[in-house]
Amino acid sequence: MSEPGPAPILGSMRPDGSRLKVHPADVRGRWLTRRRALFAVLIAVYVLAPLVPVGGHPSIMLDVQHRRFYLFGQTFNAQDFWMVVLIALGFVFALLAVTAWRGRIWCGWACPQTVFLEGIYRPIERFLEGPRERRLKLAGTPWTPARIARFVAKQAAFLVVSLLVAHTAAAIFVGPFELAAMIREGPAAHTEAFLLTIGFAAILTLNFAWFREQFCVVLCPYGRLQSVLHDRDSVTVAYDPRRGEPRGRMTKQAEGAPARGDCIDCHRCVVVCPTAIDIRNGLQMECLACLQCVDACDEVMTRVNRPTGLIRLLSQNQLAGAPGRALRPRVAVYALAFLLAAGTLGASLARRSSFEANVLRPRGANPFVVDGAVVRNAFEIHLVNKSPATARFEIDVEAPVDAEIVIGTPEVGLAARADARVPVAVAIARAALGGGVELEVEIEQKESGEERKVMVRFLAPSGVPPG
Ligand code: SF4
Ligand code: SF4
Repeated sequence: MSEPGPAPILGSMRPDGSRLKVHPADVRGRWLTRRRALFAVLIAVYVLAPLVPVGGHPSIMLDVQHRRFYLFGQTFNAQDFWMVVLIALGFVFALLAVTAWRGRIWCGWACPQTVFLEGIYRPIERFLEGPRERRLKLAGTPWTPARIARFVAKQAAFLVVSLLVAHTAAAIFVGPFELAAMIREGPAAHTEAFLLTIGFAAILTLNFAWFREQFCVVLCPYGRLQSVLHDRDSVTVAYDPRRGEPRGRMTKQAEGAPARGDCIDCHRCVVVCPTAIDIRNGLQMECLACLQCVDACDEVMTRVNRPTGLIRLLSQNQLAGAPGRALRPRVAVYALAFLLAAGTLGASLARRSSFEANVLRPRGANPFVVDGAVVRNAFEIHLVNKSPATARFEIDVEAPVDAEIVIGTPEVGLAARADARVPVAVAIARAALGGGVELEVEIEQKESGEERKVMVRFLAPSGVPPG
């Protein structure tokens, strides 16, 4: 019978610090079935979102050239940047709330790194190289032509998947139609985009073929933050030592020896772990909450006729026998912050105008000209049609005093998401300027009847005596 030993620094590292490649064993169970179903949905979402249009535009697209961001039917211009920040903040707070409540569940269930690794790359490896035992044996054999051929086949399959994923990623920036056109026109016509896509595919292949769990264990900043996001009430994957210890193999027990716990020290929970940790050593930062060890141990317990759940979802307080507490201040604060961000975003989207109108003063030029007894101002009205359809706008400028007002184009038609600048010239007699003058610019969107008023201060030199 062995006693729990000191936890190794990293399960995927040898004592001399070199990398120990992890070959997780296959596992079956209820959590794996659920995870596979979720992976199928998420792979479809991650791959199809940049390709499938919603409201005439890709579900997700960052159009750098026109400074627009499309997200599931919503269009955000440069002026809407704060809304994009709200979306990012909402996501971050949701992630923080879920982490404080349920640990690193995002990592094991929804992060693209896990979803693609466990949903596509690992099954390909399993298909070409067999189960863990055969993969380990293969890794210890010399590089014969047969092994080289198998290795090349695997890397080629990985590269094909990576190329598909990289093209999907490229569609986020150029859109699916432009991407299709670029593919038709060939790499010579789009050398830069071609090299970027190939480079990204190479990085993906390197990551999913070699780097794998190291990304989660040593590189991901979210993974590094776990210790500050968790508390003793966070529900994580935990081994129940009160039930499992003292652990021991299922051999005949010496007379008078203390009764053994339920853990038969079979190491199944360790060999199925994608980060090669022994969860029996307690909660570890490298645990992705994938629950593979739960399925593995449940299978073992069923086989040896003991109750399942030796490894299960538990908080540290529950492990110590205290009652669980789902709602704690940190969960409530993160959840409230998420609701605030989501609520503000929802209200802003509901009240969002279908167009933008801003007044721009001429750059570098004098903002006013004194012309005898008259002061002249010139400015531009920058109109942005934010709707997905062509729209007409009517512009009117009014002054509280007698003024000569010339609008470049009082009626403007704009294609969907197009913009235009309309020049305006205003002349007011100096005698009428005492106390300052505010011009009222009124813009009406003809189709919807939506109106916008912008106040513009008429500029004049201070102390100009009436002419
Ligand atoms: S799978 Fe269960 S029984 Fe086997 S070593 Fe892990 S905790 Fe113990
Ligand atoms: S310890 Fe269990 S839940 Fe955590 S990563 Fe390993 S197999 Fe997954």
